[in-house]
Amino acid sequence: MKNDFSIIVVEDDSHVRNLIRTTLKLQGYDFFEASTGKDALSIATMQKADMMLLDLGLPDMDGLEVIENIRSWSSMPIIVISAREEEKDKIDALNIGADDYLTKPFSVNEMIARIHAMQRRLQYMQQKDESSIFENGPLTIDFASNIAYLKQNELHLTQQEYALLVLLAQNVGKVLTHSYIVSKIWGSSMDSDILSLRVYINSLRKKLKCEDEDSLIQTHIGIGYQMIKR
Ligand code: CA
Repeated sequence: MKNDFSIIVVEDDSHVRNLIRTTLKLQGYDFFEASTGKDALSIATMQKADMMLLDLGLPDMDGLEVIENIRSWSSMPIIVISAREEEKDKIDALNIGADDYLTKPFSVNEMIARIHAMQRRLQYMQQKDESSIFENGPLTIDFASNIAYLKQNELHLTQQEYALLVLLAQNVGKVLTHSYIVSKIWGSSMDSDILSLRVYINSLRKKLKCEDEDSLIQTHIGIGYQMIKR
């Protein structure tokens, strides 16, 4: 099986890198390997890769610097890999432009699921014309008239709920941190706003009839929220 999608794998732990290599090979992906931030950046500039899997703990530079550098010239999707105890790094990585994350130790199935989700998102972004209609599973948003529909039925959303839904939709497939969402919607990032964010998400989920944590709006505990591309 040949997969027309190439991935830059940046990981200094050869054991983890071997595991990723074997899995990507089996799935038919093209890939490039780097064990340092410097190599990652030179591969990223020289090759036309579609995505990057990036370990945050690299020997020569901080993975966050790699993201910052790449974001200055490319919107290539970046999935960061970090250890559970490095929660803050994950949040920082998402805030400076990473798209999603994997927590070590991760299963190869989880990794493949994240890569597939990113591919779906990219396809969607490429197909999307300039129309002002957003469609994702049962959800439709008409940006021109500021109305959202669930299976063709108009949703009655408050201004805040609508703003939140639009922000998630415009970043479909991407994990948005609490502080990012709050700063976009309320213009600040106080702890009290993060608490009210949870209230708004809950009421939005009720209206979208997706109270199930894994449905349209996914919760990333301690991190943020993500609209899943259906
Ligand atoms: Ca490492």
